[in-house]
Amino acid sequence: IWVRCKDKLKESFNEKVFNVWIKPIMPLEVTDTYYKVAVKNDFFKTMLEENYAQVIEGVLAGIMSKNIKLIIETMDNGSSGSEAAEEMPAVPAKREQQQLFNENTSVQQPDESNLNPKYVFETFVIGNSNRFAHAAAQAVANDPAHAYNPLFLYGGVGLGKTHLMHAIGNRIKQNNPSMKVLYTSSEKFTNEIINSIQNKTTEAFRQKYRNIDCLIIDDIQFLKGKEQTQVEFFHTFNALKDADKQIIISSDRPPREIETLEDRLRSRFDQGLTADIQTPDLETRMAILRTKAASDNIVLPTEVITLLATNIATNIREIEGAYNKIVAYTSLMHMPITVETAQKVLSDMGNDIKTRTITYEGIIKVVADHYNVKQDELFNKKRTQNIAFPRQVAMYLCRELADLSYPRIGELFGGRDHTTVIHAYEKISNFKNSNLAFQNELQEIIEILRQ
Ligand code: ADP
Ligand code: MG
Repeated sequence: IWVRCKDKLKESFNEKVFNVWIKPIMPLEVTDTYYKVAVKNDFFKTMLEENYAQVIEGVLAGIMSKNIKLIIETMDNGSSGSEAAEEMPAVPAKREQQQLFNENTSVQQPDESNLNPKYVFETFVIGNSNRFAHAAAQAVANDPAHAYNPLFLYGGVGLGKTHLMHAIGNRIKQNNPSMKVLYTSSEKFTNEIINSIQNKTTEAFRQKYRNIDCLIIDDIQFLKGKEQTQVEFFHTFNALKDADKQIIISSDRPPREIETLEDRLRSRFDQGLTADIQTPDLETRMAILRTKAASDNIVLPTEVITLLATNIATNIREIEGAYNKIVAYTSLMHMPITVETAQKVLSDMGNDIKTRTITYEGIIKVVADHYNVKQDELFNKKRTQNIAFPRQVAMYLCRELADLSYPRIGELFGGRDHTTVIHAYEKISNFKNSNLAFQNELQEIIEILRQ
């Protein structure tokens, strides 16, 4: 079966991908529900699971005429090396080090603060989208319990909330090693409460939490609907606040929008400072990639940075994910990172990232269609509101997605001055940040552009 499966897979992937990822897979055991295979190490396992497992399962289903689950094991522990395993290219040393580093830091916590030493202010890139939250975080880190208490950070997924919270904790510990800092997720907090109630150790639970100098609770939206946890959290919160201890909270939305959060909890949050993190603009996305590459000692050409930053616009975690894949792949294959390899990696790996570049022409067309105006009206001098607004949207998108400079956009839009373009960009950017309906509308336009 495996031989047939491999033959089929050979057709679906290009030769390099097949040789690196598929060929070395060792078949172990087959039943009528699953197929167990082995690969050399966790790195391969993760790459397979993330990128190829679905395709392989699809092929197996075709061959065996039923759904077959692919189970991937690693040969790391014990099982004897095989020829196939010998043929695999070595995992780059840097990766291995990184893996070891991660394992070490998660196993041996030097103290119980749960802080990730990777997330520090030094590696946090500041842009318009996070400037305020970053400033608030620094103020709190440098003067815990006195600057803003509580500090409430909110924003969408993958925008840097967790990073900033760890950075605060790390900075506090650095400035004052005797301070007790505790980072915890809402889930972990909830589980501890439930366990302490079941095991009748609520007193110990309270002691633990009330002895902390800085409590960091991530993703508080998960307390939604958990009344007992909220009650306990409310008491912990009050005890800490009354004792002048710092509290830092994050959520995916502002306090007032967390439904079924007790009102008294909500109004407690409002006593401190609430700071939001917005989606990063193009410049910030590019700066984040540049910083990552520099710290990894990787040469990442500007065009590749642009490709990634224009295609993945809303989530820094995804940008990092794509970057990691490109770096892993090109270093495994001993290939340089070029636009072509980057595009290939993204599409080979079944990543649903569109590698299509968004052009000025595309933007004009889609914006004109969307607002039901004529394309050339976008470049002429007409200033009526029904034209001016779509025109500003188009200018904004040209800057944001097509990586055109302000002067160049001015030229393209009927020889306008670059200050007009900057004004348009800022107007749309602010409007987007203050108006959810418009934000969604803009997102729709961008989706169409990417298709
Ligand atoms: P959130 O908690 O908001 O979902 P994270 O803090 O987990 O997001 O961030 C996702 C990833 O993006 C992390 O690896 C983080 O280091 C990185 N990241 C987010 N914002 C920045 C930034 N401004 N500069 C550098 N890296 C960032
Ligand atoms: Mg987070």
